[in-house]
Amino acid sequence: MKYFMHNKEKISPKLEDQIKKYFTITKTIETEVTIEGKKYIAIVDINSFLLPTNFDCFNCLTNCCVQFPYEFNKKSRKIILENIREYDHLTKAVSILKEEGLTEVEIINSIKHDNMMIPEIHVEKTFDRCTCSCVHIDRNLCALHKICVDKGFSMEEIIDTKPLWCSIYPLEILIDHHGTLYIFVPTKTNDYLALNDSKFPCMDIQMSKSPYFRRENPIGFEKDDYKPFVISYYPILKYILGQTFVNDIMKTLELTTTKDLDVQYNKKI
Ligand code: SF4
Ligand code: SF4
Repeated sequence: MKYFMHNKEKISPKLEDQIKKYFTITKTIETEVTIEGKKYIAIVDINSFLLPTNFDCFNCLTNCCVQFPYEFNKKSRKIILENIREYDHLTKAVSILKEEGLTEVEIINSIKHDNMMIPEIHVEKTFDRCTCSCVHIDRNLCALHKICVDKGFSMEEIIDTKPLWCSIYPLEILIDHHGTLYIFVPTKTNDYLALNDSKFPCMDIQMSKSPYFRRENPIGFEKDDYKPFVISYYPILKYILGQTFVNDIMKTLELTTTKDLDVQYNKKI
């Protein structure tokens, strides 16, 4: 068994036992998931999808929570290169690498070929998080996402351009040696099984009211804006994991969706 979106991360036999035990005792449904055209059988921790969440990253004053994604695809590299001045204006990544002694040609080659679009030696040393993480006026944003929004991309085009892990974060997916997926939303009861950090105010109403968070985000997050994870993420889950997956979850949890759920994803800043 291994984490589906963290190919490099092997799990210990002890953790594998804990995951299997958890999925034996917790309430699950079996459904079908389609990821990038490939179908999988998935066992889903159904009640974790009820976790109240409020993903509003473009209005959140916290840095991007992903820190470093696992890969940038060809589309993300292409749009960064086509908009390199805007990318540098937002992130200062090109200017910083020049100050570190790189030439423009080396920087462009790094955007084309290096895992994190910066030379490995500068990962964590020069940049403590993804180079796309940026401050725009008073907001911490994803520069890649903002450039896509400014270009008028649809939600689907933005998802296809950004690293997959960023779009679905912090949903956790494991795969066993039969190819069966185990899917859960990290909650207080199961987060010891997750690799993704999920101790965020947008996944914990109490945390959003804490003095620590309110110092960074004076407005805080409104309690009424918290919705079950499957509702907050509905269009994204539907696009990435398939209609059958979201239908089965919504039906089992007896939930209905509201319209225009993807507006926030394409909101201009
Ligand atoms: S805390 Fe939540 S809303 Fe804020 S940036 Fe992180 S994931 Fe987005
Ligand atoms: S690409 Fe954007 S969302 Fe993903 S880690 Fe970088 S800043 Fe965050």
